[in-house]
Amino acid sequence: MSFQSKILDELKAIVGPDRVSVSPEVCLAYAFNPFWGRDIIVKPDIVILPKTPEEISQILKVANSYRVPVTPKGAVGGGGHGGPLKGGILLDLSLMDNILLIDTANMKAIAEAGCSFFKLSQEVFKRGMLLPTAAYGSGPSVAASAIDPAYAFGGTRYGGNINLVEGLEVVLPSGEIVRVGSMAYLDSEFGPYHRYITGPDLVGLFTRSNGAFGIITKVAYRCLRKPKFWAFKAFAWPRDRLKECIHAAAEATSIEVFDIHFNNRARWELKPNGPKIPEDLYFVLTIAINGFNELELRGREKEVEEICESYGGRYLPEVGEDFHAIWPCDFLPEEKILPPRYSLPAKIPRSYVFLFDELIHPLSWMPQIYEKMSELCAEYGLSGLVVDGFILNNLCSSTQFTISLNDSDPDVVKRYRQCQNEFRKWFLERGGTFQYRLPPYVPDKVWTNQLGAFKILKKIKGLLDPNNILSPGTFELFEEVEADE
Ligand SMILES: Cc1cc2nc3c(=O)[nH]c(=O)nc-3n(C[C@H](O)[C@H](O)[C@H](O)COP(=O)(O)OP(=O)(O)OC[C@H]3O[C@@H](n4cnc5c(N)ncnc54)[C@H](O)[C@@H]3O)c2cc1C
Repeated sequence: MSFQSKILDELKAIVGPDRVSVSPEVCLAYAFNPFWGRDIIVKPDIVILPKTPEEISQILKVANSYRVPVTPKGAVGGGGHGGPLKGGILLDLSLMDNILLIDTANMKAIAEAGCSFFKLSQEVFKRGMLLPTAAYGSGPSVAASAIDPAYAFGGTRYGGNINLVEGLEVVLPSGEIVRVGSMAYLDSEFGPYHRYITGPDLVGLFTRSNGAFGIITKVAYRCLRKPKFWAFKAFAWPRDRLKECIHAAAEATSIEVFDIHFNNRARWELKPNGPKIPEDLYFVLTIAINGFNELELRGREKEVEEICESYGGRYLPEVGEDFHAIWPCDFLPEEKILPPRYSLPAKIPRSYVFLFDELIHPLSWMPQIYEKMSELCAEYGLSGLVVDGFILNNLCSSTQFTISLNDSDPDVVKRYRQCQNEFRKWFLERGGTFQYRLPPYVPDKVWTNQLGAFKILKKIKGLLDPNNILSPGTFELFEEVEADE
């Protein structure tokens, strides 16, 4: 019996014949990713749809015995940014999509790993609570949203998705099933009530692990109370007043408004039927403010107006409301009627949106970062740069730069890559980090510091074991650790 048939038989014995496939068509369906573009194709050899942590545990034991890499997949329907970089087994967790608990008395929720984060947040929302949602719609799963640095509307007040995660259930590379943080108390009478239980915070160990430290099977959240009163505002600044715009953003963040997005006018130019930004204005802050009563809302609104106006911002009616209305996020007031989606222009030029990178940096550095990127785009003959900054409660920004390119023109693509690489070098030299790209894009100095920590972790049995078969879906961690030794 061949190696392939043997492993296949063992996997079928765990999940049954209908939830394992080696069909080339099925495997190819998992090989693409919107974030990687059409040129990067990473095909798994085997796709498995487990239903329980126990099945995952047994799958890992089989994979260990045959030394086959395993990659978990979050998003349903090809969303997300991960994939089976090393081939081998792909675990599609979309059958593990149950919501296990929504406890309104203690404001907690628990879902299985493959549950769409959007689905969970909608159920929480129906019960008068809130889990801030991102622009990513229904695709990304709770597990991937928790371990990736996912930022939603609401990050200005609450930070990233992980800030609301209190506990995880994880299948370690060895196949052991462990519960960390509040999940350690799942079966106790108090239930999963607190992330910081006796002992160190092991939830953080899995953050940004990209699946390399274990397969997350359950995620426990603390929920927020949904405020009843909401207001949406936008203020804009001329091209030469970027510093003032960012000062205003920082001050408004420090008074804990719900959300602030920073954009340039190009974002609105992409939408011919949307609200217009006056010709003399260039940078825009769209701000979502909330309050538990009208007085609180009005007080916060007034504070925001005063901050923005004191830095020379001009109020733009309708732009803030429109910005938030186009995404079906759960914080929209119930009575709000969504405007019709914009119709596409009759003639669509051939172009694709290319995401330069998703950067994380101190908000105070936004002016230099924006100017550097604009300067490089001009140098490489690229126009139409769009910036989208998610401003976070720790006065950092998760900033995305995008540009539309005709990617059938090799010269344009070459110039785009050169510009991207030059910017990355500049950004990294200053200590910049990325939403989900660790090595090889991390400068030696920073990565060496992190390696020290990883070496300590390696001593913890089973975590950074060089024999670990778990494959990080988005970066190569182990090669870097090994190479350093
Ligand atoms: C249209 C769109 C809009 C977006 N907008 C935003 C936005 O507004 N804000 C934002 O922050 N991000 C945004 N994103 C990015 C988003 O954060 C990521 O795509 C998402 O977090 C990845 O989740 P996923 O379910 O797609 O997982 P994948 O891409 O499949 O997985 C991501 C990583 O996690 C690993 N992984 C998956 N499941 C598990 C598990 N159970 N256990 C361990 N490891 C696992 C994978 O191996 C991979 O390394 C957007 C994405 C899309 C497609």
